[in-house]
Amino acid sequence: MLSIKNLEVKYGNTVALSDFSLTIKRGEIYSLIGPSGCGKSTLLKVLCGIIKDYEGDIAFNDKVFSPKDVAIGYVPQQYGLLEWKTIRDNIFLPYKLNPDKALKEPEVSAIISSLEIDDLQSRYPSQLSGGQKQRAALARAFISQPDILLMDEPFSSLDTFTSEASQRLFLRLWEKYKVTTLFITHNIHEAVSIGEHIVVMSKSPGKIIHQVENPLFNVSEYQEEKLRFVASIINKIGY
Ligand code: ADP
Ligand code: MG
Repeated sequence: MLSIKNLEVKYGNTVALSDFSLTIKRGEIYSLIGPSGCGKSTLLKVLCGIIKDYEGDIAFNDKVFSPKDVAIGYVPQQYGLLEWKTIRDNIFLPYKLNPDKALKEPEVSAIISSLEIDDLQSRYPSQLSGGQKQRAALARAFISQPDILLMDEPFSSLDTFTSEASQRLFLRLWEKYKVTTLFITHNIHEAVSIGEHIVVMSKSPGKIIHQVENPLFNVSEYQEEKLRFVASIINKIGY
């Protein structure tokens, strides 16, 4: 369990996050949604250890949180693949970094197949489409078996069709491994499609204004209800 209490982050005089408290339960997936500039990426940077200067308390399994002691999987918006390595080397990076923790064969091959990237492994990232790079980044994240998976708008630069296909592949894998996940997006439809819990942030200063369990989590057949639920969140935020 990850517990964030009264987090405050400033860049000089700009308050990026204020009075931000959130508990993320083990094996559950949270969609965090909010407008551009409300502090979503800042939160992930704190959890990754990129930002060390913050106020407030963060605990992981009741111990003071330190990014060095927790295996963090991070899928940034631009995939984070190493351009000079093949897709296979990129996917297998977790083995180099932490061979004891990373998944082994035949599960690795099963993940690569389920993301439909088997035939792309000898290529370099520049030879792939955005959707294919995204799936390679997802494969790497699952193979590393992180304690927490952080995803920063991972589908937002894909076209709608590719984005929805990638979301479905992601959810199928997530169902199998149930990685504790914080999924960040500014797209309400995406938040409702992915999250078991929906957390809504406001801007200036970035804080949580609404949190709700998603009644339609994993219920893909109720599209109409899903749309109504999306509309109710839009009403709350006043977008
Ligand atoms: P989001 O990811 O929700 O779009 P960010 O976390 O990137 O928002 O940014 C939150 C706020 O902090 C914004 O007002 C942004 O302009 C500001 N900000 C982000 N990074 C920096 C930085 N390195 N220096 C100064 N201000 C920053
Ligand atoms: Mg951002």
